[in-house]
Amino acid sequence: MLTNIRGKRILCRVDFNVPLNEQFEITDTTRIDRTVPTLMSLLNEGASLVLMAHFGRPLKKKKEDGTIDVEKFTLKHVVPYLSKAIGKEVSFVSDCIGEEAIKATTNLKPGEVILLENTRFYPEEKNGDVDFAAKLSKHGDAFVNDAFGAAHRAHASTSVVASFFEPEHKAFGLLMQAEISNARKVMKNPARPCVAIFGGAKVSDKIKLIERFMDFADTIIIGGGMSYTFFKAMEGSIGRSLCEDEYVDLAADLIERAKEYNVQLILPSDSIIADDFSNTANLKVSASGEIPEGWMGLDIGPKAISHIQDALRQAGTIIWNGPLGVFEMSNFAKGTMQVAQSIAANDGFSLVGGGDSVAAVNASGVADKIDFISTGGGALLEFLEGKKLPGIEAIEG
Ligand code: AMP
Repeated sequence: MLTNIRGKRILCRVDFNVPLNEQFEITDTTRIDRTVPTLMSLLNEGASLVLMAHFGRPLKKKKEDGTIDVEKFTLKHVVPYLSKAIGKEVSFVSDCIGEEAIKATTNLKPGEVILLENTRFYPEEKNGDVDFAAKLSKHGDAFVNDAFGAAHRAHASTSVVASFFEPEHKAFGLLMQAEISNARKVMKNPARPCVAIFGGAKVSDKIKLIERFMDFADTIIIGGGMSYTFFKAMEGSIGRSLCEDEYVDLAADLIERAKEYNVQLILPSDSIIADDFSNTANLKVSASGEIPEGWMGLDIGPKAISHIQDALRQAGTIIWNGPLGVFEMSNFAKGTMQVAQSIAANDGFSLVGGGDSVAAVNASGVADKIDFISTGGGALLEFLEGKKLPGIEAIEG
């Protein structure tokens, strides 16, 4: 973090992209809560804060008359909760650049906090426009980036703005620091055995991640919809289960590569299969490569659960991304929930990331037993894939 910030205005990029209900109330405050330690630490050192963030996709979801739906996409909705969370009144400016905004942030006193309006009201934000970023930079004497969830975007407020600050005047916030160091810990020096569990719908989304983990994981567990592309690659019958035909060859290649690299690849040997994609469908247990015509695998089966539990019990490091079944439906949630609990029961280091896996950990009531829960979805995946994230590069150089 920065030093000597007493009396300084800190422009802080935060991730306040929280879900709202129809009354515009926040239904999950995690993203705000996780950045509070950064904000409190800066305030306690005598700084004032200008907070900037994006919120949803206001330019993609315009009103019928072509104007921005300000009521729906204003960051004003987070002000009451944020004020409560930091124990201080937060002022709000209904623009993020322009005279009004500059006037409001110029004379901030130590301890004062201002939240700027949604940066994505301007197309320049996503375009990474340099002039727009220059205008944003005028709000601070120094810049702190605590928005890991947006670090994979080369946007004006996430990366370009940092170029207007000297190295000694820009830094990561505490959350961003923790995200980076925990992800690096897994990739660089994991306690062994290192076990990665990847689930979710599509192989195509996770293929780079699986390839990358071949380099350093001891065991890779694949579950969820994407496992059936692997069973197809082994010439199994998968009925109507999810399958990406164009990835079958690549899946076969990965199976071979795991042998070559001496990585244990665990695919769920059995599945809970259903005759319809519905919570009221008929169910039975089947070997995952012997699914009858008309049926589909929607969760991992009991043998697979116990096999995965054995692998997790011995793990020194566990990383988990993606549900192992259609956990949104109660009949297909068991595999995902049991895995969440087994990760929590493990004594090694555990890192869980991605909205669905985090939701499963929370629903299982074991969040406090996970060593690190990432706030990044896409950002975490790209970081683990080994990509350089613009939001990180802009600070680290
Ligand atoms: P992803 O965004 O790729 O992590 O995928 C998450 C989605 O995968 C969730 O909505 C799950 O319902 C879905 N999913 C997990 N397992 C299966 C499965 N066996 N068949 C179909 N969808 C699945």
